[in-house]
Amino acid sequence: MPPTLDPELRRALAARIRYYNEMGIYDFYHRPVSVHMEEVAAPIAVDEQEIAVSINPESGGEMRPRKSTAVAMPIEAEENIFEAIALKPEQSVSDPVKALKIIREDLGDCTRCVLHKQGRKQIVFGVGNPKAELMFVGEGPGADEDEKGEPFVGRAGQLLNNMINAMGIEREQVYIANIVKCRPPGNRQPERDECATCSPFLMRQIAVVKPKVIVALGATAAKTLLAMNASMIQLRGRFYDFKPAGFRNNDRSNEPQWDGCKLAVTYHPAFLLRDPRQKGEAWKDLQMVMKELGMKGPKANA
Ligand code: URA
Repeated sequence: MPPTLDPELRRALAARIRYYNEMGIYDFYHRPVSVHMEEVAAPIAVDEQEIAVSINPESGGEMRPRKSTAVAMPIEAEENIFEAIALKPEQSVSDPVKALKIIREDLGDCTRCVLHKQGRKQIVFGVGNPKAELMFVGEGPGADEDEKGEPFVGRAGQLLNNMINAMGIEREQVYIANIVKCRPPGNRQPERDECATCSPFLMRQIAVVKPKVIVALGATAAKTLLAMNASMIQLRGRFYDFKPAGFRNNDRSNEPQWDGCKLAVTYHPAFLLRDPRQKGEAWKDLQMVMKELGMKGPKANA
């Protein structure tokens, strides 16, 4: 029998979790405390319905970015409740289209960072095959993307389409998103705090799509996804093991478990437009990806 919590404490804890969820906080970690179990008066079997409410994105209110927070609890007592709340709301649905919709709804008319008041026309969420094996992640929307609400639709997008076609596939077969979902003014690089605020939503999109390979386009995407600071020369030319921050499989679902994916880094198409001599290098990166995915290129598909 797992240890249980006092009903009063249980209610208070569920209310606190609901409060955090409504602020967009879903990831918790424990700060171990030396509480003797005899001090924990009664059951911790937290009412599943209460937890379901706490993780339901439709519980209303404006959502804030997902953050981690520390809750001090005796380790054994926390087990059930933390297992329940560690799952993101979209993890309770198996249809990736619906799951992505939940994330989009959670994002709402986002005002979490300053980009919302710096001239963005709309949020650019992401586009493509919700079950894509291959995902491309760029930096942030430019003017054309801001206008259309879709990533990579301007000149850089045209080049990305050509790169995808050169791999022997169509744009519609992959999933495309950015680190930040709002256009930085004057196409400046997104600030570190803007990336940190927005990227948890991208992490959730990745966890839904469950690609086999992610290609990070440019340094901002690579550094944010890999949480490391290195030059493009250092970052390119190899695969990294990647799992979205805070991701864990839903052990209760019948879905196949996903153990993360490979991540490769290549040049951003906008950079390649400025320095076309680097296209050969980018092609090497894409060939590495094709090999990993068993892709033979356009001729094999003809
Ligand atoms: N550059 C990016 O990084 N993303 C886009 O969507 C367009 C241009």
